[in-house]
Amino acid sequence: MRVLVVEDEKKTASFVRKALEGEGFAVDVCHRGDDALVAAMATPFDGIVLDIMLPGRDGVSVLRQLRAQNNSVPVLLLSARGEVSERVEGLNAGADDYLPKPFVIAELVARVRALGRRGAETKSTTLRVADLTLDTILHRAERRGRFFDLTAREFRLLEFLMRSPGRICGRMSIIEKVWDYDFDPGTNLVDVYVRRLREKIDEGFDLKLLHTVRGVGYVLKE
Ligand code: CA
Repeated sequence: MRVLVVEDEKKTASFVRKALEGEGFAVDVCHRGDDALVAAMATPFDGIVLDIMLPGRDGVSVLRQLRAQNNSVPVLLLSARGEVSERVEGLNAGADDYLPKPFVIAELVARVRALGRRGAETKSTTLRVADLTLDTILHRAERRGRFFDLTAREFRLLEFLMRSPGRICGRMSIIEKVWDYDFDPGTNLVDVYVRRLREKIDEGFDLKLLHTVRGVGYVLKE
């Protein structure tokens, strides 16, 4: 994972760089906002740690510029002033996360790692499990040249299962992620949808991919 650290205070920048490098990240450092913009355009970073208070172009302006150029690199904003208005401004400008100074270095490292995970999730637009492919941009599911006609909800369900291949997904986590409910509707909603999805993606194929783990949930695997 390659990270850009943008901070004009050289001591802080080098402290952050060492901590991230110690955790296995590749780290580039910039001390000015304009340099950060140039670096971010030239290199596809997996995350940017961006201080707000910078000489010349400040962090929020760098962020706005990146988003205006459709650069969706995950950004963690840092600020000396933990003011709510500044935090809101940063998040509105397209920041993924925000950390007020002074921070504990272990927290910064943990947040950068989470940033990378988020980036990886949004980056992979083609998912594959065995011979099943899901294109999240074209909204297309395909197996051996056969395309499946999925409803929006079935598509979301399949995408959720395909993003964790081999992992058992409980009914409640499916309800949360696919229906956005934070309560159990107490119906067999999930089971009905899984059955319909299974009819589409597994019927007529020798290799079954969508399995029931009795009493626990569902898993998509070979
Ligand atoms: Ca600064």
